[in-house]
Amino acid sequence: MAELVQQENRLIFTEEMKKEYTILVPQMAPYHFNFFVSAFASEGYNAELLRTDDYDLIHEGMKYSHNDICVPAMLVIGQFIDAIKKRGIDAKKVALIITQTGGGCRASNYIALLRKALEKSGYPYVPVISLNASGFEKNPGFKVTPRLLHKLHDAMLFGDLLMTLVNQTRPYERYEGDTKRLLLEINDEMKAYFNHASLFSWRRQKRKSKDIIERFKALETDKTELKPKVGIVGEIYVKYSPLGNNHLEETLEKEGCEVVTPPLYDFFLYSFDSGIYDIVEYGGSWKKKQVLKLAIWYVEVRRNKLRKMLKNAGFEASVPYKKIKAMANGFISHGAHTGEGWLLTAEMVDLIEHGAPNIVCTQPFGCLPNHIAGKGMIKKLKKHYPKSNIVAIDYDTSASKINQLNRINLMVSNAKRQQMKD
Ligand code: SF4
Repeated sequence: MAELVQQENRLIFTEEMKKEYTILVPQMAPYHFNFFVSAFASEGYNAELLRTDDYDLIHEGMKYSHNDICVPAMLVIGQFIDAIKKRGIDAKKVALIITQTGGGCRASNYIALLRKALEKSGYPYVPVISLNASGFEKNPGFKVTPRLLHKLHDAMLFGDLLMTLVNQTRPYERYEGDTKRLLLEINDEMKAYFNHASLFSWRRQKRKSKDIIERFKALETDKTELKPKVGIVGEIYVKYSPLGNNHLEETLEKEGCEVVTPPLYDFFLYSFDSGIYDIVEYGGSWKKKQVLKLAIWYVEVRRNKLRKMLKNAGFEASVPYKKIKAMANGFISHGAHTGEGWLLTAEMVDLIEHGAPNIVCTQPFGCLPNHIAGKGMIKKLKKHYPKSNIVAIDYDTSASKINQLNRINLMVSNAKRQQMKD
């Protein structure tokens, strides 16, 4: 049995634990995180994605963390503790993994909050692994090798690809359930996709992407009547997580809309770019700056190939990162990069300029940066784009679903009215 090893005031995830423990992964982005878990599994980790989506688990997060902390932290902590306490998991054989952004936002401190919550709830022996690209905390049993990193990159590309294809197909499918069936089929196949030993897998990724796009294209759709497009933006957790946003994507589709959710990869490129910004403005390592630049360039080269494939097959593709970045100009400074920062504003501009002036801006309780870059920008955007139809929806600890729904419905009826006029 793996021994508990304490170092620098924290439990280390050891090599023995890698063999014996299951790593629990919180669900944030359903299209992507399945693939992350498959990528971990292909590198020898027993990883399990937490699929619980009962909003009541937030109470576990509230019980063991400060009530001033933002809602996404409470949900993530709540989901972990709920899993250990109530889902029949052997607490002595699990570790938790959480991302650490390293920026100025509270997301950098979730790990400390989580450890404190585990202690308070009676599980001080559960190790917590930090997933980060900055080398913050090291664990002998968990290493982000170049191959794992590249597999996570592929997982991100596939997640964004599937999200785009599903959103553009499901509202128009001729036979109900076709898109869901295909999505499940592909998710299943992808478990094996990551089982390879090569460092790069460009051809493999290209082949699989082409196959996925063709299969979506082959689904029968009826686009004689186009539905109003509604964009989802906001703080990263509530934007993508059905647990965080009360299944917003599903709600909007039921209300007769086509959902447009910006790619998750943009957030990571924005984070790299924010690192460059800080080095340029305040000084820092030249080498780090070059690495960050190279990372953005590399991801964009891969994404451009996907964009081309999508367009050739008649789907819409996201705009290049450079263009998204330029869209913030005149609205918000690129120096505003805490939380989603300027990216949130730029995404709203992009949606408005590309046929989705109807937007739900998801706002978690306790999130200052996004109240500035999201809700705080709506008036300015409205002035510049009078036809924009943006609604800010608050997600808090005692969120009233009815209240959220009423506001969403009002935005949707405005969207439908405007579409009839145009
Ligand atoms: S962006 Fe907002 S919700 Fe997310 S960690 Fe920061 S403060 Fe919390």
